[in-house]
Amino acid sequence: MIIRKTPEQVDQMAAAGDILVRCMKMLGSKARPGVTTGELDAAAEKFIRSQGAIPSFKGYRGFPGSICSSPNSMVVHGIPGPYECKRGDILSVDIGVTHEGWVADAAMTFPIGPLDTEARRLLEVTKASLFAGIEQMHPGNHLGDVSSAIQRSVEAEGLSIIRTLVGHGVGRDMHEEPQVPNFGEPGKGPELEEGMVLAIEPMVNAGGPLVRMGDDGWSVYSEDGSLAAHFEFTVAVTPDGPRVLTPWHESD
Ligand code: MG
Repeated sequence: MIIRKTPEQVDQMAAAGDILVRCMKMLGSKARPGVTTGELDAAAEKFIRSQGAIPSFKGYRGFPGSICSSPNSMVVHGIPGPYECKRGDILSVDIGVTHEGWVADAAMTFPIGPLDTEARRLLEVTKASLFAGIEQMHPGNHLGDVSSAIQRSVEAEGLSIIRTLVGHGVGRDMHEEPQVPNFGEPGKGPELEEGMVLAIEPMVNAGGPLVRMGDDGWSVYSEDGSLAAHFEFTVAVTPDGPRVLTPWHESD
């Protein structure tokens, strides 16, 4: 069952999203060569708790971090630790914030210093695919319209959608129905209705689409070792169209 939220509940989720966005901006300013992912995690936890909120990921199924930090060929679910960011890396940071019982979920892939052309293009294409999906989030459209818009915009650039990892509904729980694949057919799947809130999260490999689990039981890598990117927003379907509850722009 897809749990629809009232406009007031969407506003409450936007309040969680506001804390998340300010945390993400703070981490973006620290994402420089020499910083460790453990330092970013500590800064995130301190900030989130200072806002009267809870890092949703901490302790989730035993996950030890407050954020997921996934460099280079690691796609998602990286455990923060001693890894020291270096110039030319890309670093995916995923944050969940629970505020007054409502969850917001978002991810960014940050450039660590100047990037080579391949990495820069991967980030641009993955981010653009997120917005292509969000644009479809109007009442009366179908989930497949969102999924296929993401898929088309990525595959048109010759990059690979990871099929075994998907987005999801979000609300009081971090993972609600429905699953939101980043591939699909227009017009298929559940019809989008006012009050649905979805975490839209394209995960894209520069090489092939396959992934493998890391030895820690959490981290997921591209199987071929190619770079991977992850952008995610929490988005509500409103009568006026999509409302991003975790708005974040590079220029901010
Ligand atoms: Mg998510």
